[in-house]
Amino acid sequence: MRTKDENIQLADLLFPNVKESVEDVFKKYPKRELKDGAEVLRFAPSPTGFLHIGSVYSGLVCTKISEQTDGVAILRIEDTDKKREVKEGVQLIVEGLKGFGIEFNEGPGIKGDSIGDYAPYMQSKRLDIYKVFAKYMIAKGSAYPCFITEDQLAEIREQQEKAGARTGYYGSWAKWRDASLEEIKSELENGSPFVVRLYSTGDIENTFEMTDGVKGRVTLRENDMDAVLLKSDGFPTYHFAHPIDDTLMGVTMVTRGDEWFSSVPLHYELFAKLGFKQIPYTHISPLMKMDNDGKSKRKLSKRKDPEADVQYYIDHGYPKEGILEYLLTLANSNFYDWRVQNPNLDIDEFQLKLEKFNKAGALFDIVKLEDICKEYIASLSAEQVYEKSLDWAKKYDKQTAKLLELNKDYCINIFNIERSGSKIRKDIVKFEDSKLQLRIFFDELFNEEEYEDILNRVDRDIQKEIVERYINIYNSDEDNVVWFENIKKLGDSLGFCSDRKEYEENKEKYKGTVGDVAMVLRVAITKKTQSPDLYQVMSVLGEQKARQRLEKYASEMV
Ligand code: GLU
Repeated sequence: MRTKDENIQLADLLFPNVKESVEDVFKKYPKRELKDGAEVLRFAPSPTGFLHIGSVYSGLVCTKISEQTDGVAILRIEDTDKKREVKEGVQLIVEGLKGFGIEFNEGPGIKGDSIGDYAPYMQSKRLDIYKVFAKYMIAKGSAYPCFITEDQLAEIREQQEKAGARTGYYGSWAKWRDASLEEIKSELENGSPFVVRLYSTGDIENTFEMTDGVKGRVTLRENDMDAVLLKSDGFPTYHFAHPIDDTLMGVTMVTRGDEWFSSVPLHYELFAKLGFKQIPYTHISPLMKMDNDGKSKRKLSKRKDPEADVQYYIDHGYPKEGILEYLLTLANSNFYDWRVQNPNLDIDEFQLKLEKFNKAGALFDIVKLEDICKEYIASLSAEQVYEKSLDWAKKYDKQTAKLLELNKDYCINIFNIERSGSKIRKDIVKFEDSKLQLRIFFDELFNEEEYEDILNRVDRDIQKEIVERYINIYNSDEDNVVWFENIKKLGDSLGFCSDRKEYEENKEKYKGTVGDVAMVLRVAITKKTQSPDLYQVMSVLGEQKARQRLEKYASEMV
């Protein structure tokens, strides 16, 4: 056992250049002046070069709760794992989240600058701070240098397994925790690399209670592991940086991924040993996905699921509003009812509640996300669909962008088809789909399409007759009621039935129904058996183009 004095000597020996005290550091990060009930939250991603949809979810939760309480949202970049880091990682996070309208009050700017008084917001720039606290912990005997090698650790593990003991570096297995000052000095003189570890005084047999924002009251066992605080390269581990940064930054609620829940006992011990007031925790379950077997759930994975990557949504032009709405339904299932009751309110008006989060993990379902995106796009005006489609196409589909730019009014008319009235068409999920809407209206695209075959319903000679007779009566000035009446009359005169009941009872008397007649015209005009409202399609196409298509079809039906 080292004496108090020896620990103070040890701290100076290990950190001779650290002159600041813990109090000096606290002076630079004064307590925040906050309104009653204001929460300071932070989102703390690591820059790995990939923006997971789960990060949008966490970022949204962080900014939304802070906004609701008139608090502060901090973005902190946890870049202490140099092996995982990617060059443009920070930019990807900041810009990616901004693209969703998720913006923080404080954090690193894109160019490495910082916004806010509690900077730096990149952990790699806070190494001096961690050293002050490491020195403090060593001086008071709460931490120590450990020179154990990887091989020795493996050996300990083997012995533990043999003895049926818990594995890990703790208690009497922790070889260096009570080393004498002399032993430590001699290693230092040899230049042996070392890490700084917590000197745990917890007892695994003891329990304590805590309240988690999502899980509620839980009982946990104390930590007794001598966890690494500073790595041999001088970088802190997550465990050490977390209490220090969150305390100095004045965070009032730590919302973080559920994978950290098992570290709570360690973090409680660290807060206590650092002399900090414990910050409450809310552990948020990760987004889950139903596995292909349809039975088991697993985490939405960067490796297996393209929809885990935010870039996927950007590339295909999913509306960010739809994605945010979907993420809110995952967070608080009552969001859906709220939306039904308040179809026109901005999502900012919805009160997100941490205690309403799903404890078991929200199930991410791209089909549901697409449904919400569809609803959202259906709620836009044709002009808005045009503008948003153009924005997307300019970046991802030059050909469609050109078409949109050169034919603005025509395209708006196309997007306007079935956009008002009681039955609004919902076939655009993402702006990439806009192109499909244009295909039947531009000859160069239309020509690439094949006619769908309807010979099982109407013979060629009859199709020809329908189209030829229709050409003669076609009048582009008719309203849709007269238009349809005329198609019915045409059908009647050719032996098709316009009364469904009568047809069902006397099928043998008829060639088919008026629906078949309309189907022939639909295929002639659009090449498809399913299309937006044919009357509106023909109006937008214009008489000349509609006639050309009818004539071409008739001429092919020989
Ligand atoms: N960098 C950690 C992570 O990405 C942050 C955890 C936290 O929010 O405290 O998991």
